[in-house]
Amino acid sequence: MSNKQRPSGKKPRVSLAVIPEPEPDTRSVLVYTGEGTVVMRGDGNLTIECGNCKAPLVVGLNTSQLQNLVLKCPQCGEFNETLD
Ligand SMILES: [Zn+2]
Repeated sequence: MSNKQRPSGKKPRVSLAVIPEPEPDTRSVLVYTGEGTVVMRGDGNLTIECGNCKAPLVVGLNTSQLQNLVLKCPQCGEFNETLD
């Protein structure tokens, strides 16, 4: 058997970079306190996950839609920086 690619039905995922807690008023920090771990949801298929605990933070949006945002992970409390 040759090297097989996994089926393309798998959804793409990206992990964010974990950063120290930003100074107040220096960054746009999104803190989500509702149920579950997903902070924002769109209609795409990309999953953006916490760089520390891999909890899904944003589902269905591209990183380019989240420029210069800091997402606080509701699961582990780490701050994740979005990159484009
Ligand atoms: Zn986390």
